[in-house]
Amino acid sequence: MSWDFSTDADTDVELAWIRDFIDTRAVPLEAINLPTEEFQRVAAPLIAEVKAHGLWAAHLDPAHGGSGRGQLRLALMNEIVGRSRIGPLLFGTNPPDSGNMEMLGAHGSLEQREQYLKPLVAGTARSAVAMTEPGAGSDPTLLTTSLERVGDRWRLNGRKWFASNASVADFFLVMGVSDPAAAPRERATIVIVDRDAPGVNVLRDIPSMEDPEPRAGQIENHCEIEFTDVDLPAEAVLGDPGRGFAMMQERLGPARLHHCMRWIGQAQRAFDMLCERVTYRESHGSVLAEKQTIQNWIADSAAEIAAARLLTLHAAWRIDTVGAKDARADIALIKFYDVKVLHDVIDRAVQVHGSLGFSADLPLESMYRRARGARILDGPDEVHRQTAARLLLRNVQPPADGVPSEHLPTLRKTALAMATRPFEQS
Ligand SMILES: Cc1cc2nc3c(=O)[nH]c(=O)nc-3n(C[C@H](O)[C@H](O)[C@H](O)COP(=O)(O)OP(=O)(O)OC[C@H]3O[C@@H](n4cnc5c(N)ncnc54)[C@H](O)[C@@H]3O)c2cc1C
Repeated sequence: MSWDFSTDADTDVELAWIRDFIDTRAVPLEAINLPTEEFQRVAAPLIAEVKAHGLWAAHLDPAHGGSGRGQLRLALMNEIVGRSRIGPLLFGTNPPDSGNMEMLGAHGSLEQREQYLKPLVAGTARSAVAMTEPGAGSDPTLLTTSLERVGDRWRLNGRKWFASNASVADFFLVMGVSDPAAAPRERATIVIVDRDAPGVNVLRDIPSMEDPEPRAGQIENHCEIEFTDVDLPAEAVLGDPGRGFAMMQERLGPARLHHCMRWIGQAQRAFDMLCERVTYRESHGSVLAEKQTIQNWIADSAAEIAAARLLTLHAAWRIDTVGAKDARADIALIKFYDVKVLHDVIDRAVQVHGSLGFSADLPLESMYRRARGARILDGPDEVHRQTAARLLLRNVQPPADGVPSEHLPTLRKTALAMATRPFEQS
């Protein structure tokens, strides 16, 4: 199958508009750290513009209130939107709301879609996803938060952490163990839990490398939550009981692709800063652009970004053509590869800016801290490498005779036998 990443004229116009919007409207807003309410007020007219252009929630099926794009077109859009860390908030594609919208759209009952999905898509509600626990993250079979069936209701007990946006969320999608005796990947169920339900306690906004002093109620904080005897009706279950892991896997495939394209946008922005700096900064008799080390960094960064971009567009195209399940290896590859490119390009951009790069007068320092988190969120690098290797090796068989198929002495024997065989006329 040949690849096709071409775009039509309408898409080109759309992408050019998004680029201008992000550079001139979103990027300047990053310079002021607005509290959530103030941000909403400032963002409202910008969001209205995005909606008027039919670009709001482009990851979501129009049947659920989105403006639905295929993964490839969405990838190209996310790359530009992701140049700014607030771009996704202005385009209705901010995680974890975006993934929660997809889950509610795919698995929600009519009532759940009405009550939770509609306000989420309208931008009047926020949500969080609570899967990770202090004692279990990469390996979800170790989760302990319990979801016990009591008659026709459910009781939730446990502690989650690093649930992004939980302190500003109206509801959470929580993964709990509903059947501890079932096979490891059939034990968990996802429930929708209202933030103000009795027994729900958002304990804290966790100080992190991303934000060492998080202000309470700020978008993008990561939170610790305790659930104590939270009483839930049967209707709180999203999808079917026991399908929690499978549904989360389904969600995470496209979500990782969206992250990756945003990271390429961030890497490109760091690269643009790197290039600008070296054209004017003088040191030891010449501008930095004339030093060979700097030239190596520029060439390496350009090659790495191009490779990451092609790999990611290819993964998007694979999801569009064969589906997310069969594109699992492609998704695992980009999740660890793109993040490394992101980290390395930002690191070089910080370095060429010297003390200015290290200061908070440039966005590079916060981009750098966020890039570090990207190596862990949605699964750490090591787990994605392991997944990719496992899937890539799945159809590779060891040679029956234990001799490598490219073993030259053996091939030479075969070649000699062929060469000495008498010529047979057909
Ligand atoms: C910025 C950020 C936002 C997040 N947002 C959310 C959110 O909204 N909701 C949510 O539920 N969670 C969220 N998380 C949590 C995230 O999903 C987990 O941190 C992640 O899955 C890793 O789990 P863990 O922290 O428990 O690390 P562990 O599972 O303890 O792993 C620790 C380390 O062990 C190593 N390791 C683990 N498994 C293997 C392996 N198989 N082979 C080799 N090495 C391995 C890796 O180096 C890994 O980094 C977020 C995390 C971050 C950093």
